Amino acid sequence: MTNPKWTFGLIGHPVEHSFSPYLHATALEACAFVGEYQLFPAPDEQSLQTQLNQMREGRIHGLNITIPWKESILNYLDQVSDTVKEVGAVNTVYSREGQLIGENTDVPGFKEDILTFLSSHPASQTKQALVLGAGGAARAAAFALCQLGWRVTIAARRISQAQKIQVDFKALKQPLQAIELSASSLAVQLPNLLVNATPVGMAPICDESPWPEGLPLPRNAMVYDLIYNPPMTPLLSTAHVLGLPTKNGAGMLVSQAAASFTLWTGRMPPKDKLVSAMSDALKEYQRRKK
Ligand code: NAP
Repeated sequence: MTNPKWTFGLIGHPVEHSFSPYLHATALEACAFVGEYQLFPAPDEQSLQTQLNQMREGRIHGLNITIPWKESILNYLDQVSDTVKEVGAVNTVYSREGQLIGENTDVPGFKEDILTFLSSHPASQTKQALVLGAGGAARAAAFALCQLGWRVTIAARRISQAQKIQVDFKALKQPLQAIELSASSLAVQLPNLLVNATPVGMAPICDESPWPEGLPLPRNAMVYDLIYNPPMTPLLSTAHVLGLPTKNGAGMLVSQAAASFTLWTGRMPPKDKLVSAMSDALKEYQRRKK
């Protein structure tokens, strides 16, 4: 696939905090492509449609989608992948013969990174995961875990949101449980993998944990936080002090970005370069914050 100048971007609200521009600039350079990755703030559906029209007209070659459009964008696409049909959320749009197609690269991105995490800390035979949050990222994580044979419980502050995922995923082999994200419901859970898929602990409000105050963390859990900025969230910090294995979402971000870039350009960028760009961008963010 040849293209004189690639234009990619991120649609959402807010988008200013995103590290995707660094990752995709690195991918473009590593593949010797000319192009740019822009941020397209879309506070309303009209702005979302404007960017999608730009893509239909060939002025944009690839889009990532973030909060709050991952689910409602389904109404504006021509086709979606089987993964999107099952997960119900889109994070990548690419174009084939004038058709806009929705994909979810958070699923393989999460799966790849969680497998790396699990392989470095051999777990017990039990595969019981507890996912906090019930938005787009929680759907992707829960779906990936079910595919990997985990039994998954989703805890949400609005239990109806977790129950909706339970209904949407009813065709999966592993049945999903839905509970309220509250101290009393979490106290009786015994997961060996805890995943934070809420934004609680994310910059710029990085001093909060999604885990209820005063409730001990599950004793034998590995703890994965989808947040990558800051690299050590209050949840990960508490887990680390207790000696529990921890990992943040930087690896997932890199893997999902590499998968999106490959859909847009047909080329897989070198992941080691993306990992190092991510690490530099985080250091720069921390330096500016001081
Ligand atoms: P989302 O669709 O807005 O969902 C967020 C979920 O968290 C919702 O269930 C929301 O419940 C819940 N939540 C928000 N504030 C909460 C609070 N104070 N207490 C308890 N629950 C709360 O967002 P998302 O796209 O799933 O993203 C979630 C997080 O994952 C973000 O931090 C995002 O940056 C991160 N993420 C990381 C990657 C990666 O590659 N590492 C990829 C995707 C997402 P309500 O609906 O009731 O607010």
